[in-house]
Amino acid sequence: NRRLVLASRPHGAPVADNFRLEEQPVPTPADGQLLLRTVWLSLDPYMRGRMSDAPSYSPPVDVGAVMVGGTVSRVEQSNHPKFKAGEWVLGYSGWQEYELSDGAGLVKLGEEVENPSWALGVLGMPGFTAYMGLLDIGQPKAGETLVVAAATGPVGATVGQIGKIKGCHVVGIAGGAEKCRHAVDVLGFDQCLDHHADDFAEQLAQACPKGIDVYYENVGGKVFDAVLPLLNTSARVPVCGLVSGYNATSLPDGPDRLPLLMGTLLKKRIRMQGFIISLDYSHRIHEFQEEMGRWIKEGKIQYREQVTDGLENAPQTFIGMLEGKNFGKVVIRVAKD
Ligand code: NDP
Repeated sequence: NRRLVLASRPHGAPVADNFRLEEQPVPTPADGQLLLRTVWLSLDPYMRGRMSDAPSYSPPVDVGAVMVGGTVSRVEQSNHPKFKAGEWVLGYSGWQEYELSDGAGLVKLGEEVENPSWALGVLGMPGFTAYMGLLDIGQPKAGETLVVAAATGPVGATVGQIGKIKGCHVVGIAGGAEKCRHAVDVLGFDQCLDHHADDFAEQLAQACPKGIDVYYENVGGKVFDAVLPLLNTSARVPVCGLVSGYNATSLPDGPDRLPLLMGTLLKKRIRMQGFIISLDYSHRIHEFQEEMGRWIKEGKIQYREQVTDGLENAPQTFIGMLEGKNFGKVVIRVAKD
């Protein structure tokens, strides 16, 4: 049983030495237990927070403990009355090949599943995050302008496509021309801008001639600086993530722009609200699953994954994701099914 543990806490961007690959015997399930074999491991930006011991909404991974993460597994052996060998389950085994479970918290996916890994993406946590943050907090209306960054990742891509379903003018922001082309040609965004461009702020102003009504915040940093002056009266800003700052070791250099932010919120009566999907919306998962399942069947939502083979490649892939080297939802194929 190969597993990746947190070897040390990162200072700034994580490096390979923060992880350690260990090998242990495959455990044997006792009565009432089942043995899960990880086939798909999800890599997500929140894991950077779990590597740090700074206060957060969820406790950190202990040094020496297995890195946490959502997984889609096969039941390899079962001594549990409710599960049988061969079933697919969605769980939280983390960065390892096998896990013993007592069944708590597992979601059954069935025996024959068309795209098992999608339960970690568009049909799972990131898709749900996009759906609730946009619809419940963003409240998009037809004809409004919606802006979202990390536009080809699982959250941003889903936000923009739901925005189109709701009749919005959707402007995406992504890193590089290839991702931007994908956002327009495949995902159906109206426009997509490269945040690396020197004149990015001017390009954004031009792309949003009527201002911004909903800014779905995934990244913070320079992107937010460009968005702030364009927000309309009564704009909504679901604060979902701030990935540009996850590796930061201190606050950015001044000047202090907090008064500008507060003044803008006040004068334009803007609603800005943070949320944590697992804490705020678990009670609405069925509504999401039903509607998203239908949209996918109807071809209204497209989904792109970036598959990396081998558990041993998880650290490098994770480090790259935080820098935008991924193109689509990052999943590790831990085992061939
Ligand atoms: P992605 O797959 O989109 O990966 C992160 C992306 O962020 C990178 O690919 C990169 O895309 C972009 N990025 C990185 N650095 C910068 C930067 N400095 N400026 C602009 N963009 C940057 O991730 P997800 O779709 O899984 O997650 C998107 C956001 O949603 C994250 O902030 C995440 O933490 C948050 N989230 C929040 C949840 C909640 O409950 N609140 C739940 C799930 C996710 P590019 O190359 O295109 O710039």
